[in-house]
Amino acid sequence: MADAEILARLEQAIEANWARQVAWLQTLVRFPSLRGEEGPCQDWIAREFAGRGWSVDRYMIADVPMTHLPQYSPMVDTDYERAVQVVATVRAPEQKGRSLILQGHVDVVPEGPAEMWTFPPYDPVIKDDWMNGRGAHDMKQGVSAMVFAMDALRSAGLAPAADVYVETVTEEESTGNGALSTLARGYLADACLIPEPSGNTITRGHVGVMWFRVRVRGVPVHVAVAQSGTNAIMSAYAILRELYALTAEINETAKSHAWFKDVADPVKFNPGKIRGGDWASSTPAWCEVDCRIGLLPGTPLEQARRQVLDAVARATRSDAFLANNPPEVVWTGFQADGYILEPDSEAERVLAGAHHSVFGTEMKARLGTGVNDTRFYGLYFGMPGLCYGPKGEGAHAFDERAHLPTLKRTTLTIATFIADWCGVREIAASA
Ligand SMILES: [Zn+2]
Repeated sequence: MADAEILARLEQAIEANWARQVAWLQTLVRFPSLRGEEGPCQDWIAREFAGRGWSVDRYMIADVPMTHLPQYSPMVDTDYERAVQVVATVRAPEQKGRSLILQGHVDVVPEGPAEMWTFPPYDPVIKDDWMNGRGAHDMKQGVSAMVFAMDALRSAGLAPAADVYVETVTEEESTGNGALSTLARGYLADACLIPEPSGNTITRGHVGVMWFRVRVRGVPVHVAVAQSGTNAIMSAYAILRELYALTAEINETAKSHAWFKDVADPVKFNPGKIRGGDWASSTPAWCEVDCRIGLLPGTPLEQARRQVLDAVARATRSDAFLANNPPEVVWTGFQADGYILEPDSEAERVLAGAHHSVFGTEMKARLGTGVNDTRFYGLYFGMPGLCYGPKGEGAHAFDERAHLPTLKRTTLTIATFIADWCGVREIAASA
């Protein structure tokens, strides 16, 4: 449970800085930080961090040798020479408490047809208690929470009594290689908190995710004699049906999974992007589908990949042309394990205490059917990876929006967590 006097000081500081936090988040949302285009957003953040007197390491993913690491996900369709990562170090002169990583991603997913949005996707309009915008909810509001939680400490005349790393990464929505690069570069701590918008629940676990591209060939002929050719688009459709059948099978086995047994159909399959064919009057000679499929924690990636390859082979067995020209499966992004945050860690207890101090309720746990970056910290680098953050709506959807009153309280929870986990020392207060 947080110290009442410190809690009051932090609450006052967050209130005093609130207008600035909202404006800061609006600036962040105005950057269309789509994959490969995060540079200006990350450059702005790096300047913001430096302006706070933090020591800033701004680097590209390409600067970090990683392709040999087992946790590295294959990368296609982007350029790591331009993938800017930012790590700010807030050093404590003496390590009297426990160190902490605060990490958030700034990459956002494509907004789709802009006319489907009530407000333009990169216009952070505030209506009632909500801020509109692609990324406002997932997860730029969380980034503002971790930054302004640190600001609140300083405004309250407090500094963490152990080192804190404040990190903004990219690639969270496609590979996780941004988060991995911070670890490969050597940034480690006693715990990591990622304020993804979890609706103030702790993420007990999440499924794994794999991305792959299925490349299918066809035999092009004039449609007038379609029976003498094959149609790559329809062949791809048959493969997708087989992959949906595989997903249903996996979800049957999920009913006895230690953690996911009570979650209905936790493994999702999605054909997310498709191209193919060249001419309306020719049977298509090619089709490519970009897919995403989940896997349960505990399932080795190698086994999950084998299941996908077998399903694709099953779908093509009865087709004479495809049997001789088998579709290609290319692993194009996420090769991400599922992750369970083992209950009863000290870090989770401290966070639950901070949550209780602010919300007056027990911190509930949730299970995620999407992936987040905590797996890197928890699964591979031996520190608790806590995913806990504010609330909003419309992740990856139209009219994505962040709930500002919850953001304010979440910022206080995170500030309280930092104070309790790292310990604090008194400094001269400054704005
Ligand atoms: Zn996210």
